[in-house]
Amino acid sequence: MHCPFCRHPDSRVVDSRTSDDGLSIRRRRQCPQCNRRFTTIETASLSVVKRSGATEPFSREKIVNGVRKACQGRPVSDDDLAVLAQRVEETLRASGSAELDAYEIGLAILGPLRELDEVAYLRFASVYQAYNSLEDFEAAITALRAENEEAEARRAAGQDEPADQGTAAAE
Ligand SMILES: [Zn+2]
Repeated sequence: MHCPFCRHPDSRVVDSRTSDDGLSIRRRRQCPQCNRRFTTIETASLSVVKRSGATEPFSREKIVNGVRKACQGRPVSDDDLAVLAQRVEETLRASGSAELDAYEIGLAILGPLRELDEVAYLRFASVYQAYNSLEDFEAAITALRAENEEAEARRAAGQDEPADQGTAAAE
């Protein structure tokens, strides 16, 4: 947006804060031309369509609350959950749609949650994808294992970082 003082068409973000309710972002900007600072408030344009048909603004807090239950007893910190919610929001915003349903949100949660903790992922997926038998769990675990092995193979075939570390340690 234009600088409100000199109308310069560009500005640099010097600070960015999410409000406590997670519904808006306050950005402190500086104009590169006149160096004056101003603040913009960005409100969430993402809406969640509930089952009842009502919409409500997207909230990172709700993502965190939804995932926290699946993370009980797991080595997942509040910071981890905050980062996950941020990634989910980024994914959803990148999708370009302004209105999302619970299915799309759940889908956006699965990827980052799997990276965070596989047990929490399975718990969440079992509810979200409505697993109703041991076979469903088995299939999910098999898929998880296959993807892990694939990732391992990619790592092994790729960089020789562990060898470098070994050399450094020997010196
Ligand atoms: Zn200016």
